[in-house]
Amino acid sequence: MARATGLGSLAGLTMLAMGSCNLNMAPAVAQVSAVPVAKPALARQTNDFSLFGQQVQGGWLRGFAPTGTLSLALSGRPVEIEPDGSFFVAFDRDSGPSSELVARRGDLPTVRKVLVIAPRGWQIEHVNAPYRPSGMADAEFARRRAAELAQIGAARAQSTDAAGWRQPFAWPLRGAIRGRFGAQRVYQGKPGSYHGGLDIAGAEGTPFMAPADGVVVLAAATPFTLEGNLLILDHGSGLSSAFLHASRLGVRPGGHVRQGQVIGWVGRTGRATGPHLHWAIKWREAKLDPLLFVSPQP
Ligand SMILES: [Zn+2]
Repeated sequence: MARATGLGSLAGLTMLAMGSCNLNMAPAVAQVSAVPVAKPALARQTNDFSLFGQQVQGGWLRGFAPTGTLSLALSGRPVEIEPDGSFFVAFDRDSGPSSELVARRGDLPTVRKVLVIAPRGWQIEHVNAPYRPSGMADAEFARRRAAELAQIGAARAQSTDAAGWRQPFAWPLRGAIRGRFGAQRVYQGKPGSYHGGLDIAGAEGTPFMAPADGVVVLAAATPFTLEGNLLILDHGSGLSSAFLHASRLGVRPGGHVRQGQVIGWVGRTGRATGPHLHWAIKWREAKLDPLLFVSPQP
């Protein structure tokens, strides 16, 4: 595929430092103790958001809301907020240039923060061939697909107690990147749908791991027409990972998994030209770039 700007724009990512997470180091005291006593963190008092992450299309932010926040919204939609004031938000691949966070605090003044979402240079390949939707456009496919989409919808509607959204993510599989998130082909001027995940090469039967703690909300009992053996993990706060084309899954719906736990084995079930892991991440309906969740592979 033609290499466009792709990762080039990653160099310009804004990394926002965690602002008010000060560890208050207690002064040395004349006290003999074999085990250091953990000092409780000082209560945070702030009238601003503290944000960490990548404020770009397909990116995400973890943050702390201003002190006293009772409810939080992103561009008018409520956002879950934890008792400690932490929260997670993210920005779709095609997100507009800005969003607004609004924290309502009862008697305290409302805090508003405009988030500028940097555009990305997606990998676009122009193809001199007519656009042809994928095959299987028959009645049998339509019937099976409707049932599969209903299962996926029901899985995504679940909310769980998973807290993996708080963790730095780990690679589910180490391997060459065979397809980037967001890449798109344009057929004689007509855009096809873009690639919604990251393709990682792996031999058939290679185990892959949970990138963060999660709860299994879907583990296909039989291969789906397109996704094959599909696994969806909920990471909490609206964040989820999907893994496609597995040869076999190692977990069942409702199961809790830990980061690094083997959850399945690489395969080529469903619509896949060879064995690989397609890893997709969503926050609510927003499709996100998995490369923005992990550190570069060594
Ligand atoms: Zn893929």
